[in-house]
Amino acid sequence: MVSTAPPRVLTVAGSDSGGGAGIQADLKAMLALGVHGMSVITAVTAQNSLGVQGYWELPAEAVRAQFRSVVDDIGVQAVKTGMLASIELVETVSELLAGVDAPVVVDPVGVSKHGDPLLAADAVTTVRERLLPVATLATPNLHEVTQLTGLVVEGEDRMRDAAKALLDLGPQWVLVKGGHLAGDAADLLLGADGEEHWYRAPRYDNRHTHGTGCTLASSIAAQLAKGDTMPDAVAAAKEYITGAIRHGFALGAGIGPVDHAW
Ligand code: PLP
Repeated sequence: MVSTAPPRVLTVAGSDSGGGAGIQADLKAMLALGVHGMSVITAVTAQNSLGVQGYWELPAEAVRAQFRSVVDDIGVQAVKTGMLASIELVETVSELLAGVDAPVVVDPVGVSKHGDPLLAADAVTTVRERLLPVATLATPNLHEVTQLTGLVVEGEDRMRDAAKALLDLGPQWVLVKGGHLAGDAADLLLGADGEEHWYRAPRYDNRHTHGTGCTLASSIAAQLAKGDTMPDAVAAAKEYITGAIRHGFALGAGIGPVDHAW
């Protein structure tokens, strides 16, 4: 007997050799949430709990070929993008996404928690002008909000202004993640039509949070592929990442990963 295929979700992102973030986190979250995860690898990082020791981009042609292989045969019900490294790869991926008939969750990855750059400084404009307009949802943290809009968000009251400034760049929805503010972490989801939802979760005192952003974005993509509305997808993904952070564990001498299998 042939089993029924689960919804198919594609991550377009970088590989984390330490298994905590990037492609590896995305595929673990997708498995846990019951979808079939697939990958287009944009860059290979040499990485561990101490940071990113180096990375190597794949040629645009290799990114394009992986994408076509997956989309033309298997098909996708949602796509998530993460580390895109360079102007050329941001342009290539934006072009490919414009032809896809499925929700696209863009995690506009700039730097890692350790401060290692994962996107060339000159590629921020390309993210703003080419990638955000093809996003169904963009999921910036507050550092990425500043990088993309120039706005500095120091309190929850400014998160709505930041979300509006990002919506002006073209995505249909924006999730501004307030996790870097003090106190309980609140995230704001704002739609282009003005629909607004706040998500709150208690802050856990656990420093092993490597892979948080990747995991949240890929969980939202998984939920969208299963048919959730955007607000429901974010609520379910937020519940998933909150559990994963609570169970994050120590590995190596630095910051360990969130846990997908508690
Ligand atoms: N490595 C890769 C390949 C990533 O895509 C990301 C984030 O998106 C990171 C590392 C950073 O992860 P974190 O900031 O959670 O440590």
